[in-house]
Amino acid sequence: MKQIKFLDLQKINLAHQQEIEERLLNTFQSGWYLLGNEAKTFEENLKNYIGAKDVIGVANGLDALRLILRAYMEMGVMKAGDEIIVPANTYIASVLAVSDNGLVPVFVEPDDSTFNIDLNKIEEKISEKTKGIMIVHLYGRAVFSEDLKKLAEKYSLKIIEDNAQAIGAVWNGKKTGNLGDAAGFSFYPGKNLGALGDGGAVSCNDEELGKTIRALANYGSNQKYVNIYKGLNSRLDEIQAAVLDVKLKYINAENDSRRAIAERYIAEIKNPTIILPELPENPAEHVWHLFVVRSENRDQLINDLLEKGIQTLIHYPIPPHKQKAYEEYNGLSFPVTEKIHEEVLSLPISPVMSDEEVQKVIAVLNSL
Ligand SMILES: *Cc1c(COP(=O)(O)O)cnc(C)c1O
Repeated sequence: MKQIKFLDLQKINLAHQQEIEERLLNTFQSGWYLLGNEAKTFEENLKNYIGAKDVIGVANGLDALRLILRAYMEMGVMKAGDEIIVPANTYIASVLAVSDNGLVPVFVEPDDSTFNIDLNKIEEKISEKTKGIMIVHLYGRAVFSEDLKKLAEKYSLKIIEDNAQAIGAVWNGKKTGNLGDAAGFSFYPGKNLGALGDGGAVSCNDEELGKTIRALANYGSNQKYVNIYKGLNSRLDEIQAAVLDVKLKYINAENDSRRAIAERYIAEIKNPTIILPELPENPAEHVWHLFVVRSENRDQLINDLLEKGIQTLIHYPIPPHKQKAYEEYNGLSFPVTEKIHEEVLSLPISPVMSDEEVQKVIAVLNSL
């Protein structure tokens, strides 16, 4: 058997080749490439899919999160120096969105068994300056609770969802991206809903917030040549919107395929040196963007798997607070987060993996 790639993007996209080609040809021939029908159609379809009142297409996932916080600042809800609670265990983009706005990230350790922010450790980090909680549905697993909502109400905090990895996940009957006050989505090619380049979106239920974000993403303007904010240029182009609109139709089926693989891995991998991720009681809560195992002997495991033709990746090798970019936080200690970063390894998982490939990953891990 050929090498099993960590993620075969070519195969994922070729599965929709004909439909994508037709839509792209249409867009090409239309002569309209920004802020047109394709973006409008995709925004409408994503809005219906998520169940939110508004969706705004933007240039990428980082911008989606930056724009949410920026809009809250323009609306007077937040100001520079205010604090936003973020998980210590996340991809750096969640933190960049906060610091880029002159807001201060306050890190909270994750729950060891879900990798997601420990909901019981949030309240102790709330100060006079706290204005928001950014939750990250890491690896595709939803994190939320009624208590979190109550906590946000008690302290008048906005809940911002980083939904870059969890499109399609459902918590208590509601999709992620519709659980808090606003959510950012990424359509980076490797995400569960991936474009052929960069793309992102914001969802929210607040009309003023949606309007502010739409203006901010378009030079701070709602009306051509009239600028009410010092905005930026962050738009989802027509080509990417066309591709995403095709792929959105298949996201549930593709997430189901990921779930089936995750369930097989969890049932069939029997290797005492590997800790498998937890299957949530309600399978809908997880869309398995990544299947992340833990090993105290990670380097050895990577090499053993590679020798047998299985590619893996680490998500992520260095936590945000230990990055050079955040030197000011390098002295902080988050032992749960740091241990996770030393041990995690992502196995191949995707909607186009064959049964034989899944079988091989299981067999190889069980033979080590
Ligand atoms: C991918 C990702 C982002 C950033 O999205 P881009 O589209 O790459 O800018 C933000 N947060 C998380 C958790 C991500 O995985």
